[in-house]
Amino acid sequence: RLPVLALVGRPNVGKSTLFNRLTRSRAALVADVPGLTRDRQYGRGRSGERSFIVIDSGGFEPVAKSGIAVEMARQTRQAVLEADTVVFVVDGREGLTAHDMEIARELRRTAQRVFVAVNKTEGMPRAQVAAEFHELGLGDPLPISAAHGDGVRDMIEIAFEHM
Ligand code: GDP
Ligand code: MG
Repeated sequence: RLPVLALVGRPNVGKSTLFNRLTRSRAALVADVPGLTRDRQYGRGRSGERSFIVIDSGGFEPVAKSGIAVEMARQTRQAVLEADTVVFVVDGREGLTAHDMEIARELRRTAQRVFVAVNKTEGMPRAQVAAEFHELGLGDPLPISAAHGDGVRDMIEIAFEHM
């Protein structure tokens, strides 16, 4: 079967933008409203010679206690279980947040393979911006720009290394 890549991270970091770039679709709803993509969404991803399945998860709300947030967390956990590799997407413009640290703690427990993609780094000192996210304890963070495409192809190569 095709390898499965799940995009996980808090709302508004650019998961759906990355999903759309990888699948060349506008299917995943991209919005400034945090948490708008509530369901998992599956697509066929392509990058160079690679072909894979991408899951756009609705966003991680580990501290929420009820309603949509709980459902989103459940959907995200399901995506992690289904994935061969999890891309933990964070926002390089906002920097590291407490919520990112919580998600990292959960992913260290549950994900088979996980790495950090630092998004929105176009026009920034990319290596420097990414370095801050070493603190998540999930290896070398990778600077990307989902909107512009910078680093996305390299990211896919790293995601499927040894697979
Ligand atoms: P999601 O909630 O994680 O799915 O995030 P979205 O894909 O809906 O994006 C949230 C916001 O971030 C939107 O306004 C996007 O246009 C913006 N965004 C996504 N990727 C990038 C990027 O690479 N650079 C910049 N500057 N903005 C981005
Ligand atoms: Mg989304």
